[in-house]
Amino acid sequence: MPQHTHTAKQAAIAVIAKLRQEGAIALLAGGCVRDELLGLSPKDYDVATDALPEQVRKWFPRARVVGAQFGVVLVRKYRHDIEVATFRSDGDYLDGRHPEQVEFTTAKEDAQRRDFTINGLFYDTEKNEVIDYVGGQEDLRNKLLRTIGEPTKRFAEDHLRMLRAVRFAARLGFDVHPDTLSQIKQLAPKLRAISAERIAMELEAILAAPSRGCGWQWLIDAGLRGYLATSWSDDLSADRTALSRLSFLPDEEIPVSLAFAAVLCHLPRTIVNQVCHELRLSNRLTSDISWLIGSLPEAAHSRRLELADLKLLMAHPRWPELVILLNAEVSASGQAMSVYDELIENTRHIEKSAVAPPPLLTGDDLKSLGVNAGPQLGRLLSSLYRAQLNEKVKDRQQALAWLERMRNNQDDK
Ligand code: ATP
Ligand code: MG
Repeated sequence: MPQHTHTAKQAAIAVIAKLRQEGAIALLAGGCVRDELLGLSPKDYDVATDALPEQVRKWFPRARVVGAQFGVVLVRKYRHDIEVATFRSDGDYLDGRHPEQVEFTTAKEDAQRRDFTINGLFYDTEKNEVIDYVGGQEDLRNKLLRTIGEPTKRFAEDHLRMLRAVRFAARLGFDVHPDTLSQIKQLAPKLRAISAERIAMELEAILAAPSRGCGWQWLIDAGLRGYLATSWSDDLSADRTALSRLSFLPDEEIPVSLAFAAVLCHLPRTIVNQVCHELRLSNRLTSDISWLIGSLPEAAHSRRLELADLKLLMAHPRWPELVILLNAEVSASGQAMSVYDELIENTRHIEKSAVAPPPLLTGDDLKSLGVNAGPQLGRLLSSLYRAQLNEKVKDRQQALAWLERMRNNQDDK
């Protein structure tokens, strides 16, 4: 039976139709209008309405309130979550992050609280027309990123908008309006006042996107680069090499671990760990970044590695990223490409099934053969596994013989 699936856009339009049927004003708002006008596919479709959150919840009984203080309700439609936000104006920002209070109001005022003109557009899905209170359409045509209202005030209200500016300018290939840019330069040190998690989230989005090189360049040009983390001081020459490394990464969305490794790999390991810690990256992400950077020298000297070491590198889930990172590092630093070619050549013939085969003998096997539990057992197991990966020990029988030899050697000592 063919499955009937609706797109997120259809879901948003259906939610709008219901709101209108109840007598409310309801429009598509923000990023989705921008992306549609640019011919890009929006990540999500947000709806803005004059209906109060209580009314929205009454009309959509299964809706969930996600931002009570901001009047945001999540409506489930056709298996999509559509954010329905009541038009609001934000009160004073005292902490550089959150408005003290919000007030429910009109579409025109709601547009004013949004960050950039290109993000302040609405779309009337019934009349098929754009509603533009902020000059966003003209800036879209001119590929210009500009704050709505006074840049000084808007960046002082919420410092994170400075990184959002970089993310949008890079992703869309837009220029930043001179007034907007000069205020970012002025207020860049204020980044220190916002939470590491929010900085990390924006940085991840900037670096994972194909436009990461452009984003990194904007971070440098706007003076933001030195304020991402205190342990990560800016250094024009190192930052330029990082830029070059980024330019050799694939022209597509990449894993965040690879992106961070590419901008951090010239730094000492202790600093890398400090930066990850300061940005509150997850343990998983931190250990992946650390593995990528720590394995780079081995990958660059694959000729000197034993087969077992090569296989241990290849068995890591981040191995494909390591290959890409080495390529970028070698290309950016002007080293001979042979280092990279050697890694490819040395690993090309290793069968997938040979990379991480199940061990020929387990700890239980060794115990039943009379090896006492303890560090000795662990050492035997890992030496045996290396011998197996080196293809010196090929089956269980050879493994038993190997064990016998090792134990005899030890007895002799
Ligand atoms: P993306 O495609 O990356 O999701 P977006 O424009 O949808 O881009 P969101 O962060 O999802 O960005 O926010 C949705 C809308 O909310 C924005 O288009 C903007 O109008 C408004 N907005 C979001 N964050 C801020 C902010 N910090 N200050 C002012 N307005 C904001
Ligand atoms: Mg969005």
